[in-house]
Formats: sequence, C-alpha cells, structure tokens
Amino acid sequence: MGRLTDKVAIITGGARGMGAATSRLFAQEGATVMVADVLEDEGRALAQDLGGNARFVRLDVSNEADWVSLVKDTVAEFGRIDALVANAGVLSFGELVFAEADEFDRVYGINVKGVFFGIKHVGGAMRSAGRGAIVNIASIDGFRGANALGLYSSSKWAVRGMTKTAALELGPHGVRVNSVHPGGVNTPMVNGGDRSIEELNYAHRRVPLQRIGAPEEIAAASLFLCSDEASYISAAELGVDGGWAAGYYHDNLPGAPASLTGE
Ligand code: NAD
Repeated sequence: MGRLTDKVAIITGGARGMGAATSRLFAQEGATVMVADVLEDEGRALAQDLGGNARFVRLDVSNEADWVSLVKDTVAEFGRIDALVANAGVLSFGELVFAEADEFDRVYGINVKGVFFGIKHVGGAMRSAGRGAIVNIASIDGFRGANALGLYSSSKWAVRGMTKTAALELGPHGVRVNSVHPGGVNTPMVNGGDRSIEELNYAHRRVPLQRIGAPEEIAAASLFLCSDEASYISAAELGVDGGWAAGYYHDNLPGAPASLTGE
C-alpha cells in the first residue's frame, strides 16, 4: 500500500479489463486516478466504486482534442500528472491481403495514434514539470509476427518503437517511458465474456506457465514501472506473458510439459 501516494495517474481504456484492474490497483496504492475511456457507464461506475480519488473522463484516445482537454482539466484540478498508462487498444483479426484500409485506420488510430497523443500531450506536460512515468501497453505480438493479426501486431511494434524514442527524448527531462508486453490475459478482449477459465488455460497450454494471465498481473507490472522503485528504468520492454516470448515447445523433445506430450 502507498506506492503511489500523492501521485496523479491517467489510465486509458481504464473502464474495463486490464485498464480497470490497473485503475483499481493504482487507487489502492494511493494515486488519484483518471479513468479515461469511451465506455461511459462502466467508467463512471468504476470511478464511483473507487471513491473520492478517482474520476471518470470520456477520452477517445484517437481524438487529439480529447487529450488536450484531459491534460488541461487534470492539471487544473490536481496540479500535476505523474503517471500515464496508455492501455486502450483494440484487436483486429484477418490476413493482411484481405484487410481493408478503413480497418487499418481504425486499429492504428487507437493503438498507435492513441499512444502518440499520450506521449505528445501527457508526456509534454510531464516534460514541463520535469518528472513523470509513462507505460505503454504493447503486446507479445509487438515482438513477433502473428498470422491473421497483422494490423494488430504491427501496431504493437509501433508502440514498442515509439516508446524507445520517447524514452530518449524525455529522459533528460526526468520522464521515464517503458512498454509492457502482455501475453494472453483474461479480459473481455479475449474471453468474449463467456469462455471458461479452464478453456482459456487450455488454449494457453503451450505457455511455460501453462495458463492465461490475470489482468491484475499486468496491472502489477505497470504499478512497478510507475512507482519510484523503477526510478532507473526507462526504455525497457517488460514481458508479462508467463514466459511465452521465450518460444514454443517442441512436443517430441525432452522438456515439453505432460499436458502437451500426453505422458
Ligand atoms: P479490453 O477490450 O477488455 O479493454 C480495452 C479498453 O480500451 C476498453 O475499456 C475499451 O473501451 C477501451 N478503448 C477502446 N478504444 C478506445 C478509444 N478509442 N479510446 C479510449 N478507450 C478505448 O482489452 P484488454 O485486454 O483489457 O486490453 C488492454 C490493452 O492490453 C490493449 O492495448 C490490448 O491490446 C493489450 N493486450 C491485451 C492482451 C490480452 O490478452 N487481453 C494481450 C496483449 C496486449
């Protein structure tokens, strides 16, 4: 408790899934939390549940004017912004040769431009203040290609890439910028609201830790990176993926888990 006492944090996509878990954890750790999302009912209900130190703000991350208002209003009310978790994102399925330009614009508008605006506007305010921490939520798919996930995967490579440049440019001004790369996580994006935990764990049986992740496990990584414990960490890419990024199991070679070999 208290790892973010007196800090003000913005969590985009903060109304549900990983963002909601992050909003909750940051509030528990003493932060004032701006739950920023397009989901108004969920966002308001969460902010109310978190109590006096949380606010819901309607933010479409792809809309620059929304960011300008958010930064202005947050600084006007609380006087500072210490942390941004740029978590809002959308998934998109389909092979690249069949993908439509409109879908490219939608996915890049939210996943890439949304992160860019966060760096530009929140990072800009942090630069002026001489302090701050930004965590951009990328993905394990920002480390590799993924069939039928080309737009999504490449958008997460962009998040990872922009994080490096932002860390270089903002570091001299006291602002740290890191990316977190979740593997599979049990949120509405993945579970569709009706897939059981057994089914989800089975689908992740090739991951070294043999299960899907929980949203709280990603929130814990963002908390660490936004806290003073990470005061010398910038431009890092932190996988929170149960070891998935290490590779995949060859079923027919020693070391594969029994769940794959059937032994
Ligand atoms: P989710 O769909 O449950 O939640 C995403 C949140 O982002 C929602 O609250 C949604 O309303 C919000 N959002 C979408 N478009 C927005 C916009 N234009 N402006 C503001 N908010 C918007 O998904 P999640 O699993 O919690 O995903 C959170 C982040 O983690 C995303 O960036 C996602 O790509 C990434 N991620 C998820 C997984 C996973 O397995 N769930 C794995 C790797 C990375």
